[in-house]
Amino acid sequence: MTTSAETLLDRVSVPGGRPIPDAATGEIIGYAARGTVADLDAAVARARAAQPAWAALSAGERGAALHAAAAAVEARAEELAALVSREQGKPLNGPGARLEVGACQGWLHANADLDVPTEVLVDDADNHSELLYKPVGVVGAIGPWNWPQMICVWQIAPALKMGNAVVVKPSEYTPLSVQALVCVINEVLPADVLQVVSGGREVGAAMSAHAGFGKLMFTGSTRTGQAIVRASADHLTRLTLELGGNDAGIVLPGTDLGKHVDNLFWGAFINTGQTCAALKRLYVHESQYEDAVQILAAKAAGTPMGVGLVEENLLGPLQNPMQFAVVSRLVDDARERGARIVTGGEPAPELGANFYRATIVADATDGMPVVDEEQFGPVLPIVRYADVEDAIASANRLDAGLGASVWSDDAAAAREVALRLEAGTVWINKHGGIHPSVPFGGVKGSGYGLEFGVEGLKSVGVPQVITSR
Ligand code: NAD
Repeated sequence: MTTSAETLLDRVSVPGGRPIPDAATGEIIGYAARGTVADLDAAVARARAAQPAWAALSAGERGAALHAAAAAVEARAEELAALVSREQGKPLNGPGARLEVGACQGWLHANADLDVPTEVLVDDADNHSELLYKPVGVVGAIGPWNWPQMICVWQIAPALKMGNAVVVKPSEYTPLSVQALVCVINEVLPADVLQVVSGGREVGAAMSAHAGFGKLMFTGSTRTGQAIVRASADHLTRLTLELGGNDAGIVLPGTDLGKHVDNLFWGAFINTGQTCAALKRLYVHESQYEDAVQILAAKAAGTPMGVGLVEENLLGPLQNPMQFAVVSRLVDDARERGARIVTGGEPAPELGANFYRATIVADATDGMPVVDEEQFGPVLPIVRYADVEDAIASANRLDAGLGASVWSDDAAAAREVALRLEAGTVWINKHGGIHPSVPFGGVKGSGYGLEFGVEGLKSVGVPQVITSR
């Protein structure tokens, strides 16, 4: 008898395709289609043909389809979670694979019920002007490998709700999870409204330069985002760019650290640190510095790491050897520069090739690459400060502005600092929490455009003003 997980894999795994390893064990879990630029062209042509009928449905009918899609995902939730756990590496539990699949359902349901109301801007004796949003046509969705299913749904749910067709290009590191998700969602959608082309960077590059897209939604690195801006210039394709981050957190003096330790730890170590809006550098006042270091080191050392399918594990491997090399290099460099590795600071080969122990780097300073570069792994450098003004300046000094956080038991003081931070989202006493009705997006090198909520719907629509009288 085949298990349901094997059934979904059977549906997306292609004989002769590209072998995709389990991130934790290296075992081959399936074979991804080798999509080409010709496959992309064909998918775009089919999407353009299917889109008008989809757009002609009422918003309520499209919403009903998204609710049905969420139900279809719920029915296959365990096998989708197991697949993303193996392919991406994140554990089933904690803020892991089950949370990712649950978020897919949540975002589908939320977008199903959202609408962009037509706005009357002027209504006087001479003018009646209203602003409304129409579909852009075909949306291209290019995704990363860290939260492959969840980020795919962030891109496709609003696009579909607005009456667009979508062509998805998953990361070459995590294609099977996305193909399985789309396969499940397509159980309830009309043909060709949602398609996947599983290919490498060349397919992403071709999407960026393609005349057939009204909009590209991109989540990935800043460097790739810049390439997409350049490649899309000829067609002036609309873009939403959710790019890399290097989120700072500032603990204000006198904060009860014990109360916040769980939120601080998971703000940094969610998905073993491979999260765009994770806490990646923590600034702590000198009066509490050593306490913060010890509390977080104890938490890091005590959090179980291992293969994601083992229920008790809460931290997993790095997704790929490239990312493992980045993390190793940054921690080794910090050690050489005199930083103190309080816990971790080395691979965990007994767990598997891509595992790196949860690491707290004390006596880190601005200018060290482990602070200044997006380390995207299970590492938190902690920087000492004496004056809050210096901490604010430190937080703002890099060309990244996705998220930031302020930690304090004084709500007014925290808000005052939050207002001065250059980031698309500032959290107070937590880091990285998102909600399908609350817009999310970066500033500076972290990109532009908003996802989620009504703003997210607008971003996959074309504004039109109708003026009469
Ligand atoms: P990446 O930029 O290497 O790849 C992302 C996607 O872009 C992949 O599908 C890839 O095939 C495609 N691609 C590569 N070259 C391309 C090109 N020239 N044109 C078009 N597409 C191309 O990013 P990654 O390593 O997969 O993801 C990690 C990065 O993503 C980190 O920097 C992380 O911070 C960022 N990220 C940001 C968010 C956010 O919401 N802001 C969320 C998750 C990840």
